[in-house]
Amino acid sequence: TLSDRLSGIFAQLKGKGRLSDADIDRTAREIRMALLEADVALPVVKSFIFQLKERARGAEVSKALNPAQQVIKIVHEELVLVLGGEGRRLQFAKQPPTVIMLAGLQGAGKTTLAGKLALHLKGLGHQPMLVAADLQRPNAVQQLQVLGERAGVEVFAPEVGSGVGDPVQVAKDAIEHAKRHMRDIVIVDTAGRLGIDAEMMAQAAAIRDVTNPDEVLFVIDAMVGQDAVATAEAFRDGVGITGVVLSKLDGDARGGAALSVRQVTGQPIMFASTGEKLEDFDVFHPDRMASRILGMGDMLSLIEQTEKLFDEEQKEKMTAKLMGGQDFTLEDFLDQLLAVRRMGPISNLLAMMPGMNQMKDQIAEVDDKHLDKVTAIIRSMTPGERTDPKLLNASRRTRIANGSGTSVTDINQLITRFTEAQKMMRQMGGMMGLPGRGGKSS
Ligand code: GDP
Ligand code: MG
Repeated sequence: TLSDRLSGIFAQLKGKGRLSDADIDRTAREIRMALLEADVALPVVKSFIFQLKERARGAEVSKALNPAQQVIKIVHEELVLVLGGEGRRLQFAKQPPTVIMLAGLQGAGKTTLAGKLALHLKGLGHQPMLVAADLQRPNAVQQLQVLGERAGVEVFAPEVGSGVGDPVQVAKDAIEHAKRHMRDIVIVDTAGRLGIDAEMMAQAAAIRDVTNPDEVLFVIDAMVGQDAVATAEAFRDGVGITGVVLSKLDGDARGGAALSVRQVTGQPIMFASTGEKLEDFDVFHPDRMASRILGMGDMLSLIEQTEKLFDEEQKEKMTAKLMGGQDFTLEDFLDQLLAVRRMGPISNLLAMMPGMNQMKDQIAEVDDKHLDKVTAIIRSMTPGERTDPKLLNASRRTRIANGSGTSVTDINQLITRFTEAQKMMRQMGGMMGLPGRGGKSS
């Protein structure tokens, strides 16, 4: 696994403060191999690695993680991002029925998904209807009927024994039927072929044109690996895709197809099919998929725990300080900035939370350059100055500016910010009911 391969690099990286370009290159090579082994298509791997290196170079210094763990964390975060972050819900038509068309190769799991989706939507209070527009295989209609019965939803199909019908006409009739019978969602199952095929694509496009779907879900078998790119491209260009469903995720596929399909279609992966039963269905979880692709769930949870532990320790230290009546110092201020920095984009969210509003300016200011500057300034102070900034008269400020390669203005700004933060910490101490900090004295 990737963890095994990286353990050698980990050993060499131990004790280093920041990642060198050579470290990044070596680690990136291993990750590239891991992605290829997980069946991510080569062009997708290439662009991913490129992005990854960019980000690793500018990586923040983490106090909690060693450099190798840091890289893994970045890789994981980038993967989650590429896999679509939080994903998206189904789009419903303003004027029912909502039409969901399924497309994909034969055996991809479309018909099975149709039943799962119907059951899922019925559970949400909808009145879905299934449409058998796969008239290619003799028992395709019957398969859908069995699934529909199990899900307890109506299946619209040509009369049994009516011979080979026209799937486009069936789809068209189905929409009319749904309108008359107050079905608010129509799920159209279509025919696939074993390979990409012009006739299949033309038929799918014709069904799309008569049904005017709100969603065209491209169903792809997670096991397909390297073929994922070509297949997704064909359906993207031939039918148009609004969302992706990964099927057979219960198998041992590493899931590289997910990354490829996501990149090629630019559309979200919305659902995961995880077995033959109707209940084996879930919304797609990018973070789980990222762990699976990397094949290092254990390492990732270790990283998460390490960070959590570190944060806990920081918090405890801070609480102990406040409880002990000690004041918030410049050292604490720096720790806090570093912590905010580590949170990355989350800090934006944090800034929107009530009570955290005061931190907004601080947070907005926290970029690498700013942090380097603040770090340099604080490191140039004597321990006494760090605990008691009131000592900082004009001559001391000049000395520190010279020592840290900054200006007196920078120092003034830092002290202003720090004083604000200190005030806030005192208020928080007060809220915690600490004596002598503005809390109720009795
Ligand atoms: P279609 O040709 O795209 O309609 O594919 P089907 O829905 O008929 O599925 C093809 C085969 O794969 C059937 O035997 C299904 O039972 C099986 N299948 C579909 N989805 C899954 C899944 O998520 N997991 C597993 N293990 N099998 C699946
Ligand atoms: Mg089918």
